[in-house]
Amino acid sequence: MNRDKDQAVVIGGGAAGMMAAAAAAGNGRPVILLEKNEKLGKKIYITGKGRCNVTNACGRDKFFENIVSNPKFLYSAFHAFDNKSLEMFLENNGCNLKEERGERMFPVSDHASDVTAAFERFLKKNGVQVQLRSEVRSIETDGEKITGVRLADGNVVPTGTVILATGGMSYPVTGSTGDGHRMAQTLGHKVTDCAPALVSLETEEGWCKKLQGLSLKNVSLTMSCGKRKLYQGFGEMLFTHFGVSGPLVLSASSFYGKKKGADAVVLTIDLKPALSEEQLDRRILRDFEENRNRQFKNALGGLYPAKLISVMIERSDIDPEKKVHEVTRQERRRLAELTKAFTLRVKGRRGFEEAVITQGGVSVKEVNPSTMESKLIRGLYFAGEILDLDGLTGGFNLQIAWSTGYLAGKCCAEEGKEQ
Ligand SMILES: Cc1cc2nc3c(=O)[nH]c(=O)nc-3n(C[C@H](O)[C@H](O)[C@H](O)COP(=O)(O)OP(=O)(O)OC[C@H]3O[C@@H](n4cnc5c(N)ncnc54)[C@H](O)[C@@H]3O)c2cc1C
Repeated sequence: MNRDKDQAVVIGGGAAGMMAAAAAAGNGRPVILLEKNEKLGKKIYITGKGRCNVTNACGRDKFFENIVSNPKFLYSAFHAFDNKSLEMFLENNGCNLKEERGERMFPVSDHASDVTAAFERFLKKNGVQVQLRSEVRSIETDGEKITGVRLADGNVVPTGTVILATGGMSYPVTGSTGDGHRMAQTLGHKVTDCAPALVSLETEEGWCKKLQGLSLKNVSLTMSCGKRKLYQGFGEMLFTHFGVSGPLVLSASSFYGKKKGADAVVLTIDLKPALSEEQLDRRILRDFEENRNRQFKNALGGLYPAKLISVMIERSDIDPEKKVHEVTRQERRRLAELTKAFTLRVKGRRGFEEAVITQGGVSVKEVNPSTMESKLIRGLYFAGEILDLDGLTGGFNLQIAWSTGYLAGKCCAEEGKEQ
């Protein structure tokens, strides 16, 4: 087959697929982009609460610290196309960026749609044939190399090169339903166990429901399993009707999969991380002095948000009707300990419908990190969330899609030239 004339087929018009198509076409390869939705980048529209946190402006080392699974696999891709390259690409195509808290980058317009529009402009200019409402059912091979892709309507698009960029399984309403995982498996690729990540956690404690809507700011959260510490972070979290959510909890959820054995996973919240236990005890004593003739239940307003008070009283096992001056030293210590280590037992993660990303995917062991090409099937490339790669919030997951998409597109174009 003459690969020079052969058009590459990109399956999936999300972040990774659009970038792969752009890089292949920008490097001279004819490209057809197949997307099953009625528009490109459906998920991009809902990223960053509609504003799209496109990437993070941090340096290379910090970038890799925020990659949870298989960071080393990403080295070449990030080197080939990093956050600065993305910024330049978007700005050259009419989407200027701005930096916000935590080096998060957003379109100046605050519209996620401008990111997709920038890609659409580039794809059009470079002759990419975009076919919407085109669901791919399978990838055809002769056992060693790609021969075509079969669509849901039965038509076969002949090609020797496919970039599979169908995403993961999270937010399936956006089209990410795991199709690519099944196609890769059929071709002999291993897909590691998939789980929802950057997702809320359900707790055993049913009373969390009573705290629904309560947001805790400037707290420290530790997630552990037996003696193993899985995660520790500082920031904001939220109580919900099923358990806990918010930025800290979403980050913690990415490490839930690292639990081992039958030990329960426990969240420990330090409600006053700026104070040592002794400092906190002095602070409680001061509050108690000021309220010495009030009942215990009416003396905690300075220490905790109103919604939390009844739970703290219940868990401290101190008689709420007791006058504050009757609270013993031991009881006061118990309250301080509880404040520094408020625990919740994790029942599990919420589902894919609510998860920002999918953890797990096509095993990176069978993909060449320098090209994104399959080590098993010639002409098959992978890009984006379909791979067993994931990062924390802050623009890192989209950067995974941009970097891997670019490398796959560029390498398949170069391979085309060599044929
Ligand atoms: C609510 C939410 C907010 C997020 N916010 C951010 C953020 O601000 N910053 C950030 O970095 N990350 C964010 N993410 C994560 C980020 O959106 C994803 O990691 C990224 O979109 C993955 O890109 P992808 O192209 O690999 O997959 P996807 O975006 O899932 O795209 C895959 C595409 O393939 C198509 N497809 C699937 N199967 C087929 C098939 N059989 N035939 C044809 N087409 C098919 C799908 O329709 C879809 O369009 C967010 C995710 C969610 C859910």
